[in-house]
Amino acid sequence: MAFSVSSSYAKLRSIVDATPNDPLPSLASIQKATKSLVASLPSTGLGEAATETHLLSDLPGGFNGTKTSSNYYGFVTGGMFPIAEVADNIVTAFDQSPMVHLPDQSISTVVEDRALGMLVQLLNLGPAWGGRTFTTGATGANILGLACGREFVVNSRLNNAVGGSGVGELGILAACMKAGIKEIQVLTTMGHSSLYKAASVNGLGRQSVKDIPVSKNEPWKIDVDSLERELRRSEEGVVSIVAISAGEVNSGKFAVSGLDEMKKIRGLCDKYGAWLHVDGAFGIFARSLPNTAEFASLISLTSGLELADSVTGDCHKLLNVPYDCGFFLTRSADALSSIFQNPNAAYLSSGPEASIPSPLNIGLENSRRFRALPVYAVLLAHGREGLGKVFAKQVRLARGVSEFLKASNDYELLPSNSPKDDHFEDTHIIVIFRAKDERKNSDLVNDINATRRMYVSGTKWEGKPACRIAVSTWKVEVERDLKLVTDVLKEVVGGSPS
Ligand SMILES: *Cc1c(COP(=O)(O)O)cnc(C)c1O
Repeated sequence: MAFSVSSSYAKLRSIVDATPNDPLPSLASIQKATKSLVASLPSTGLGEAATETHLLSDLPGGFNGTKTSSNYYGFVTGGMFPIAEVADNIVTAFDQSPMVHLPDQSISTVVEDRALGMLVQLLNLGPAWGGRTFTTGATGANILGLACGREFVVNSRLNNAVGGSGVGELGILAACMKAGIKEIQVLTTMGHSSLYKAASVNGLGRQSVKDIPVSKNEPWKIDVDSLERELRRSEEGVVSIVAISAGEVNSGKFAVSGLDEMKKIRGLCDKYGAWLHVDGAFGIFARSLPNTAEFASLISLTSGLELADSVTGDCHKLLNVPYDCGFFLTRSADALSSIFQNPNAAYLSSGPEASIPSPLNIGLENSRRFRALPVYAVLLAHGREGLGKVFAKQVRLARGVSEFLKASNDYELLPSNSPKDDHFEDTHIIVIFRAKDERKNSDLVNDINATRRMYVSGTKWEGKPACRIAVSTWKVEVERDLKLVTDVLKEVVGGSPS
């Protein structure tokens, strides 16, 4: 049969629609798909038609249901709104690369700018986020955050405005020598692994990341007194970037208790010349929950994040666009361009009067995917209210599961030693727990996932294995999914489903 893209799309859709929405395929199905893979480069290609058959018939059985299933609770994967899938196919069909702002040639950078503007509105972050860009994810955005922080803390010591001759120009060694800086530290609590990677990429070193928790009982909470002590080391030539975990990926908890504490931290950063970064990959979306009593505590916990110098977020998580898509915000595009400017490339210029900075001068990549379109589509299709409703369902399911665990004789809801509240009003979308029976606990994640009915991630809490549920898809139906989750949890500890 002749090969045509349009009929391929139609076939693809019918295959996806016929695929069971299971969180995981069977092992046999994965093995079959793996066996079908061609191992080495054919000297004569199979042709597009035969390759299409291979892709559509052999491979889908080997994919997991992170996006298609309602019961994939691993990591924080996010689902995919149907309109986001459509938008992503448009991105592919027209293959735009928004790198230079060329408004007479393509609207792609304008769409990107609008999408970022609407995203800032959704998150209630207020105006003045002139430095903003889409990234491949929160890891990319954390790399940008520490890069901006590094530039700022060094440049301030060199008495330059951002944009002067700092690290971007001189390199970290020369700039630090000139500025009399002997160390750059990143102060955080339970920073995401990508923060350590970002420290390494930025030449600060993974060892520069320092945990300053309030106590062992609440290791996610930042201790403001320790923070001040650390910031005061600027007198000895030790400068700091503060990275707020909002929320922390294991427990979903927030490092800061709200606006008052953020104001205090902001004041300290200003006093000691530190950069204030927020990693809000999924947690920042708590700011977009409906403004009702049900979510008042979460909204209050996440208020004040707008006082940061820079913010990391993910769209492929709670915003339910396809991989990959994150975002980075900072106050001014100058902070970014002093690092990411492509020098001496006049052919890449969009002209001096451009109202939108060219993405290639404010981020990692030059050529890049048109990630903005699925975001634009989701924000447009669902609006503040529609998204608020989706976020609310996710929180309700996480709270329902928490309630079940807390009442259970077989499970322990974690963190066990944090202040108790029976309404789970600080619970966002992550639930962490373990089985009380140590033996059962060591196999718990495997036993749950072996049911193939839902998928959870394993983690560690207080040095012991723990299990983690992250609710992040628009497909949540609270009652249906709560029954499934609690049935599976009862079953794996030997009880019978209700
Ligand atoms: C997921 C996550 C990251 C990393 O995000 P990627 O999109 O995988 O790059 C960073 N920080 C936090 C808090 C996260 O939850």
